[in-house]
Amino acid sequence: MKRLYTTDIRDADEGEEVALRGWVHEIRDLGGILFLLLRDREGIAQITLVKKKTSEELMNTVRGLSRESVIWVKGKVKQEDKAPMGYEVIPQDIVVLNIAESPLPLDPTEKVRADLDTRLDARFMDTRTRRGMAIFRIRHHMLQATREFLSEEGFIEITTPKIVASATEGGTALFPLSYFDKEAFLNQSPQLFKQLMMAGGFEKVFEIGPIFRAEEHDTRRHLNEATSIDIEQSFVDHNDVMEVLERLVSHVYERVAQDAQRWLDVLGVKLTVPEVPFQRLTYDEALDIASKVEPELCWGDDLTTQSEKTIGAEVGEHYFIVDWPTDAKPYYAMPHEHKPEISKSFDLMHPRMELASGTQRIHQHALLKERIASKGLEPESFEFYLRAFRYGMPPHAGWGLGAERLLMTMLELDNIRECVLFPRDRRRLSP
Ligand code: ATP
Ligand code: MG
Repeated sequence: MKRLYTTDIRDADEGEEVALRGWVHEIRDLGGILFLLLRDREGIAQITLVKKKTSEELMNTVRGLSRESVIWVKGKVKQEDKAPMGYEVIPQDIVVLNIAESPLPLDPTEKVRADLDTRLDARFMDTRTRRGMAIFRIRHHMLQATREFLSEEGFIEITTPKIVASATEGGTALFPLSYFDKEAFLNQSPQLFKQLMMAGGFEKVFEIGPIFRAEEHDTRRHLNEATSIDIEQSFVDHNDVMEVLERLVSHVYERVAQDAQRWLDVLGVKLTVPEVPFQRLTYDEALDIASKVEPELCWGDDLTTQSEKTIGAEVGEHYFIVDWPTDAKPYYAMPHEHKPEISKSFDLMHPRMELASGTQRIHQHALLKERIASKGLEPESFEFYLRAFRYGMPPHAGWGLGAERLLMTMLELDNIRECVLFPRDRRRLSP
């Protein structure tokens, strides 16, 4: 006898013996006939118990089950057009593996919709809903497509430390922790380590891992612990890695549409694969558009949330903002040779928000040291990083793409917290 998921039943033969395991989604007791809806991670199957054909004992077992109890059902497949999947299972045996308490923290049938806080507090039950399950099944396909794409492009997957001695970009947005007798921090980005591996001779690396930002923002697109998709590549400039980025985004949309259509349907999302190349606006052009709504904006300012909205509404699809003022970008951004006040930098934008930031990096030791100092940082605390630039550092470029923002914009979700199993934000540290 095969162990099947509920969705496999359509391929089973009439009269075939099957075993299903899952949760009690619903029980409908019509007296002489009992419908038990069994749910597993893939779908729902109808288990039908008819008084004349089923033992009294089995009928009573089912009558005694609470919703969301865990059961094992052995039975025979029967075609039935009125059942949810076109089939039902006539049980021979039902084993109760675990009884669920009631009332439930939320309703997995989604007849009663729970608010986001309730869902996050009972995440273990939220992912039993079709919506909760769909988001994380698509997240899986998105990350798988990312790994597949970058591996095929020749990028080597690396893992870098999350406990670090100093800030990546200076500033204060760090979570301190005690590391034996020293002070340490949770890393805000793999930036310095992926650059070290350019000196390490890897030429193309990527990492998918956590980043920690101690910013106190409380928005729908910021988390204090997020997942970053990062690449770094040697012997190329910012334009080359922008091409990798736009092709990656397009590939991810395409693969998700191919591999996860049924989960997109659950969310009612119709994906349009973004066409490459994405439009490129210079910072100056972007500022012109934004200034129509915010005349107070000055050259050199970072773009506000409002600016991102204004420009996004005008462009209407994924686009890049390139050539940012050097001072608006981190110290490692390479200035343009003939116009050093502008850097070889870019942000990838979705009409709703920023998705990624990248630059060609400074690979010359003296210039890098100077830029670190000019930001008011201590070059001494960057010695582990600067050292690598003295012994043969190739020119290189890279970017960091927020995995949750990619998922959130792809699925048109309102709040980034929906894209993380156990989000960490200003108020939320548990579960
Ligand atoms: P923003 O200005 O939107 O706060 P940022 O410019 O500070 O973002 P970067 O340091 O450029 O962020 O990080 C690269 C990418 O990582 C961002 O474009 C975003 O997709 C993602 N990211 C950064 N910080 C967060 C966060 N707090 N929550 C979720 N994603 C984040
Ligand atoms: Mg950025």
